[in-house]
Amino acid sequence: MQTDRYSLFALLREAMRGNTGWKPAWRKAAPAPAYDYVIVGGGGHGLATAYYLARRYGGQRIAVVEKGWIGGGNVGRNTTIVRSNYLLPGNEPFYECAMKLWEGLEQDINYNAMVSQRGVLNLFHNDAQRGAYIRRGNAMRLHGVDAELLDAQAVREKVPFLNFDDARFPIRGGLLQRRGGTVRHDAVAWGYARAADRLGVDIIENCEVTGIRIEGGRAMGVETTRGFIGAGKLGLACAGNSSRVAAMAGLRLPIESHVLQAFVSEGIKPFIDCVVTFGAGHFYISQSDKGGLVFGGDIDGYNSYAQRGNLPVIEDVCEGGMALMPRIGRVRLLRHWGGIMDMSMDGSPIIDHTPVQGLYLNAGWCYGGFKATPASGLCFAHLLARDEPHPVATAYRLDRFARGAVIDEKGMGAQPNLH
Ligand SMILES: Cc1cc2nc3c(=O)[nH]c(=O)nc-3n(C[C@H](O)[C@H](O)[C@H](O)COP(=O)(O)OP(=O)(O)OC[C@H]3O[C@@H](n4cnc5c(N)ncnc54)[C@H](O)[C@@H]3O)c2cc1C
Repeated sequence: MQTDRYSLFALLREAMRGNTGWKPAWRKAAPAPAYDYVIVGGGGHGLATAYYLARRYGGQRIAVVEKGWIGGGNVGRNTTIVRSNYLLPGNEPFYECAMKLWEGLEQDINYNAMVSQRGVLNLFHNDAQRGAYIRRGNAMRLHGVDAELLDAQAVREKVPFLNFDDARFPIRGGLLQRRGGTVRHDAVAWGYARAADRLGVDIIENCEVTGIRIEGGRAMGVETTRGFIGAGKLGLACAGNSSRVAAMAGLRLPIESHVLQAFVSEGIKPFIDCVVTFGAGHFYISQSDKGGLVFGGDIDGYNSYAQRGNLPVIEDVCEGGMALMPRIGRVRLLRHWGGIMDMSMDGSPIIDHTPVQGLYLNAGWCYGGFKATPASGLCFAHLLARDEPHPVATAYRLDRFARGAVIDEKGMGAQPNLH
């Protein structure tokens, strides 16, 4: 007998029989001629969409079509930070919905995703930033979300290893969301894939979408490297490749693609027990359970589809780290990598219909899409099943740029590389 459900009992039983009874986490499905729903992109968002479609909306005959392997995209490349510390009304309920789903995710999908609510601390360094964080914290609390303002002494007690004494940008305090934290990124992909597979979803890897067949203004399905796959409804969740795939349907998206890099140091003893972000530069850091310091910074300034970064950004990120905590200079960098970010014009995502009938879009996640994964999947599934936006995602419309109804958290304007 093979083991289906993960539990302490299953662990003990498999220990007794040499671990011979574990099933593959998901089937290697071959494409069927047609499905009710085809999701393009087997990243976190595509897999979560398929899962919630099957689980909550009773969707049947669902396929996720992935050009590479599950976990090979941004879902397995990010710095694993989750939080719901947003300011604007279009964003806060959505990201809090995601946070609540993270809190119950492991039980829901029966998978250890190492959800760790270790807290996210955003530092501020001057009065203007303090004012902005007070405003953000108040907005969060008005939405029922936890937020605490720490003064410099409280920050010093929490994270004593930062540079408090002779810093170029003295630390004045921080905004803390205790329920924020980290989630093991590839476990999220594997967990959703496994849970969706158990509900009958076909996860089709090594199957690149090369065209979208449109007849009479309606999307009929996708041309792929493994043949044509018909779709009752077609959902795109291609993250950094959204513009390229949407272009196959003649759509030009308000999105630019940029590389974002992540860095991991050699393993050291535990000393950072939360996520810390620098307010005077772009730098964020946490420590993995294996002891590696996991950190990142800005995106590369130019458009690219290359999944690798460049030296100037490495220098910039390391400078941010040195300014915040000079002791990081003694740690050796173990590895770094890049992922392609779908940077929208206002820094907020799109979950909407497209002008092509039967074609739906989930894109524009910029570099904050990992934390959104569960809510993005839920809301996209809702849209696909019901043909109307989920109540927490009503602002993420594709035409908001034409209407001037942008959701610009940073107030940067139509400058995707600055969001
Ligand atoms: C270095 C880095 C750090 C980050 N840090 C954070 C963070 O700390 N917190 C946070 O919230 N977010 C973070 N992000 C952003 C987050 O990872 C992304 O916004 C999110 O993962 C995107 O959604 P996804 O998981 O569906 O993307 P992906 O995993 O990229 O999924 C998209 C999939 O579509 C597939 N695809 C593309 N084209 C085709 C095609 N033609 N046919 C079939 N399949 C196709 C791709 O192969 C890919 O697997 C980070 C990203 C990076 C790269």
